[in-house]
Amino acid sequence: MQVGEDDVQRTASNQAAPRHSLRRVKLEAVPDLQNEFTWSHSRARCFSQCPRAYWFTYYGSWGGWSDDAAAEVRDAYVQKKLTTIPMWTGTVVHGVAEAVLRAARTEAWVPGVDEAVGRAREGASRDIAGSANGSWLRRPAKRTGFAEHYYSQAVENSRWDAAIDEIERQVRSLYDNKYFRRLLQVPQRIRELEDLRRFRVGDTDVYVVIDVAVEDDRGGLVIIDWKTGDNHDDDNIAAQLGIYGLYSVRELGVAEDAITAMHVNLRHGTATRHAVDSAAMAKAASAVAESAAAMRAKLRDVGNNIADKDDFQVLPPGAEACRRCNFRRSCARENC
Ligand code: SF4
Repeated sequence: MQVGEDDVQRTASNQAAPRHSLRRVKLEAVPDLQNEFTWSHSRARCFSQCPRAYWFTYYGSWGGWSDDAAAEVRDAYVQKKLTTIPMWTGTVVHGVAEAVLRAARTEAWVPGVDEAVGRAREGASRDIAGSANGSWLRRPAKRTGFAEHYYSQAVENSRWDAAIDEIERQVRSLYDNKYFRRLLQVPQRIRELEDLRRFRVGDTDVYVVIDVAVEDDRGGLVIIDWKTGDNHDDDNIAAQLGIYGLYSVRELGVAEDAITAMHVNLRHGTATRHAVDSAAMAKAASAVAESAAAMRAKLRDVGNNIADKDDFQVLPPGAEACRRCNFRRSCARENC
């Protein structure tokens, strides 16, 4: 699960989230929040991919939830909230996993697979309709808006249908998965479940969201990451796991040699075990320090986390990343 885009907003309202919804909870911001400098894995990725997109995400869109936000701030905020069909597929499937496990953990009624599939399909259809007719724009933090609609891209109905079918396939794969089934048997052992957490690494506050962390029966911790897409590179996975390891040791009190990570790919029905050792954690801590220093070096006022757009360069004209970027309208790259 990625973290960062809505770090502060989710923190502000996490406690109020309904516990048994089958949809991923998207949470509204409150207007008097401070734009603090924090670090997350997804923030670092954004920074490395395009400095200007990073500025839009963490500075240029700040406050865009407010009714009296300037038009350019509101536009950037709306664009920040855009999703795409592949990203949304993963969001819906993660939301089902979270909701079902929350229900199991609190001993509430746990839906069977057909019930979960039915709800997921209904919600997915509502998402598509609400995005297509623009009603999502009334509450962009709570509703789903597709870049495909926002940018008037032609998408065949069959592609939407295929995405809903893929959601169903992955929800069924989830229910068939041995790790998920085991979690349903021992929900009281779950320590973390898509909870937004903030902890200190060096001089930087870091956000993490772990899909699931569960105690094993030998005093260790198993971190489970649901994967729903095709593209996951090993370096990226290792960096993310190192941060999870740091969090587990420092905040959950787990021994450094007692952490295992499983990547469960629901698209392909595979599961991969990864080591999360002290070397990976040390590497992650250095990476946070280095990355946070590079981000801070761009600020005009580090103490107040003030950034100037002009200090965050755009990519060269014609860059491939611009074709998929949420901010291509605000960035005047819509037609390049
Ligand atoms: S359109 Fe291109 S240059 Fe502009 S923010 Fe996006 S990726 Fe960066």
